[in-house]
Amino acid sequence: MDEKTSGIVIVGCGMAGLAAALRATELGTSVRVLEKSPKEHRGGHTRFTESFRIPTADIDLDVEFNVEDYSSSDFYSDIMAVTNYRADEDQTERVANDSAETFEWLTGHSIDWEYQAPHAGYTAGRVWLHGEDFVDDLIGILDDRDATIHYRTEARDVIRDDSGVVTGVEARVDGKLTRFTGDAVILAAGDYGSSKEKRTRYYGPGYGNMKVRGSRYNTGEAIDATIDVGAKTDGEWGDAHMAIIDTGSPDVEGGITRIDGYQYGVIINHDGERFVDEGEDSRAQTYAKFGRRIFEQPYHEAFIIVDDTVVDDVAHMGPSRPITGDSIRSLAQRLGIENVDTTVETIETYNAACAPDEYDPDVLDGNEATGIDPEKSNWALPLDDPPYTGFPVTGGMTFGFGGVAITSDAEVLDTRDEPIPRLYAAGNSTGGLFYNNYPGGTGLTNAAVFGKIAAETAVRDIDSNPQ
Ligand SMILES: Cc1cc2nc3c(=O)[nH]c(=O)nc-3n(C[C@H](O)[C@H](O)[C@H](O)COP(=O)(O)OP(=O)(O)OC[C@H]3O[C@@H](n4cnc5c(N)ncnc54)[C@H](O)[C@@H]3O)c2cc1C
Repeated sequence: MDEKTSGIVIVGCGMAGLAAALRATELGTSVRVLEKSPKEHRGGHTRFTESFRIPTADIDLDVEFNVEDYSSSDFYSDIMAVTNYRADEDQTERVANDSAETFEWLTGHSIDWEYQAPHAGYTAGRVWLHGEDFVDDLIGILDDRDATIHYRTEARDVIRDDSGVVTGVEARVDGKLTRFTGDAVILAAGDYGSSKEKRTRYYGPGYGNMKVRGSRYNTGEAIDATIDVGAKTDGEWGDAHMAIIDTGSPDVEGGITRIDGYQYGVIINHDGERFVDEGEDSRAQTYAKFGRRIFEQPYHEAFIIVDDTVVDDVAHMGPSRPITGDSIRSLAQRLGIENVDTTVETIETYNAACAPDEYDPDVLDGNEATGIDPEKSNWALPLDDPPYTGFPVTGGMTFGFGGVAITSDAEVLDTRDEPIPRLYAAGNSTGGLFYNNYPGGTGLTNAAVFGKIAAETAVRDIDSNPQ
């Protein structure tokens, strides 16, 4: 078997792996990054991203618009609130508290952020990026450092020596077995949600057919290998980020095909019924959980319906063309909704429950529709301004919420809650942060913060106790 040696072996070249590689090389340690995909598909789900959540109030941003006062304690509260207070407190604290410093560290590497004023449906506390360029830029920096990226290289086994210390991984390089050894291993292989078998296993029958928004390579074998050498699991294995996407999205690697702005209208299923409080919260706090609710409807499909008053507040990023109609009945027929009569009745009942005051898409405007089931908590305006526009939507797999258990220093824990010597993990390969739901922009921040921490802890351990 071929053998290659370096300081730290990093599995995965998305945000977590690249942050780890950047930090480890900065601290003077060589790295080998193993990446399962060919070079042209590198970057995992990170390649498809667009925003990075940061506490803007804690950072001196050079922008010309007012940055809403979003602090690290707001960030902490948002994660806690959307996860029903189940998120691991230590991990949440590190993400919220270290995100400003991690953002400034990345900015110091000439990362090209885009700054947008907070606008309809998007909360403050975000900077924007182009995922593919972002990955290319980070790898460009590594090209000048003691770092080698091995493409088409799939980690399949973690090696632990007789004394329990992790000393490397075994990988298939274009099918051929190669051993990558080093002083430490960092697992940064993303999640497992691109595996049909794992979606069916963890979410239930039918989920194998869900469209995969991100990389096809995130099928979880490196997580399995880590569990095989004794890692404890953590997080919500039965749940995931499943976003509201255009029904016409590609089956895999569709990227950003969301339909945002559903919160200003209603969402109807094929039975003609509403089934969520569309205005429960801002878009960023609901889109990741409503996708699953939509997928659970008949034919895994539902329809966003808006009228002319709010149609410009809908952000339509999918490939399908919106469908319009002069009446709710004609729109429902054109959309192919099975039960047109119930659709018309549902919208009449909804309209009668609305008592709108001033409409404001940028804040939770308090316009409620009450006495109906489900009620609508904000932006409840009657649908009475034709033409009406409809968008067929489904739920799209973004990433799974389960993973290996880590400490707040990114050490992988065993099933006795002891750190496994020289094994660290970051990003979507870990569990414990997200349950039930997810605040938009946090996946990337979590991966960056913990990727950097994983490298710092690994280098600390290597320096303090050379093997
Ligand atoms: C369409 C889409 C849009 C998103 N938009 C945003 C956004 O705007 N903001 C945000 O914060 N989050 C967003 N997310 C979530 C975000 O992408 C993830 O939370 C984040 O990128 C996780 O980074 P990671 O490094 O843990 O995993 P990834 O970026 O997925 O990287 C994992 C890497 O590991 C590799 N790999 C897997 N298995 C192996 C193996 N056995 N051996 C070797 N390599 C392996 C994969 O090929 C991949 O390159 C989005 C996700 C999707 C799918």
